[in-house]
Amino acid sequence: MVNNYRVLLYYMYVPIENPEEFADEHLSFCNELGLKGRILVASEGINGTVSGTIEQTDLYMKAMKEDPRFTDIVFKVDLADSHAFKKMHVRARDELVTLRLNDDIDPTKKTGKYLNPTQFYEAIQDPDTLVLDARNDYEYDLGHFRGAVKPEIRNFRDLPDWIDQNREMLEGKKIVTYCTGGIRCEKFSGWLLKEGFEDVAQLHGGIVTYGKDSEVQGKLWDGQCYVFDERISVPINQTEHIIVGRDHFTGEPCERYVNCGNPECNKKIICSEESEHKYLRGCTHECQVHPRNRYVAEHALTEEQVREKLSALNLGS
Ligand SMILES: [Zn+2]
Repeated sequence: MVNNYRVLLYYMYVPIENPEEFADEHLSFCNELGLKGRILVASEGINGTVSGTIEQTDLYMKAMKEDPRFTDIVFKVDLADSHAFKKMHVRARDELVTLRLNDDIDPTKKTGKYLNPTQFYEAIQDPDTLVLDARNDYEYDLGHFRGAVKPEIRNFRDLPDWIDQNREMLEGKKIVTYCTGGIRCEKFSGWLLKEGFEDVAQLHGGIVTYGKDSEVQGKLWDGQCYVFDERISVPINQTEHIIVGRDHFTGEPCERYVNCGNPECNKKIICSEESEHKYLRGCTHECQVHPRNRYVAEHALTEEQVREKLSALNLGS
């Protein structure tokens, strides 16, 4: 593998006037450079992940830091052997992360205490600390910090409701939150403070920064870290690799993600290649027999072949 490419992950909460106009100009700039990826722009700031060659990403980071609004922006940099996206999108949005709070949080004014990787590593070993994963259930399932609480949510915007329903678990505890790159925790930890929880801290720079830290070396992280690009996941713990992912169908250790073959479901499931072929990539019986099942289309299965696979499943169960 020749690592001539990089994947950048970054965000910054800073006022941006005319996000629509900014997004248009920024898209032209990224296209000129030859970058690919996804960037969100809002009046509250910018959140992006892009891939490009070493040279392209160098030019991008330099240009961004020359803009007085983004002088302090932090880029998390991964080496890669190719682009991690197919296209380049820059979109203007109301929020950088979708929480849809009635009373919005400005993380530059209210947010949880920042912990660097070493401080976080120490904090999560304190028995009075509740470690709360601020990501979605399918991200947790592939990998998480040892002992972390998993909110049963498929979308970040459902997290405040989940907290409301599980308040007693958090009462009186030191709360430490973490997410992939840190941006979700900026707002979420601020929201926890606003809700009256007093001792709230967050992993600054997120799991990705923690995995690169030379001192903690990703310790106490189990599994892989889900990422929102074509790599799907990246390693974090440099000292040991404990697989926590489980095949949706067999329960066997597994770290391979696919989307359910039913286009109307599209749920992310962990499953081995063997299970995928056996269950036609359908997460439930309904998804397996769905008339537009993508596995069936991709493999050009005849009705007869589909029937055979389904009857084999019935015999097996
Ligand atoms: Zn499904």
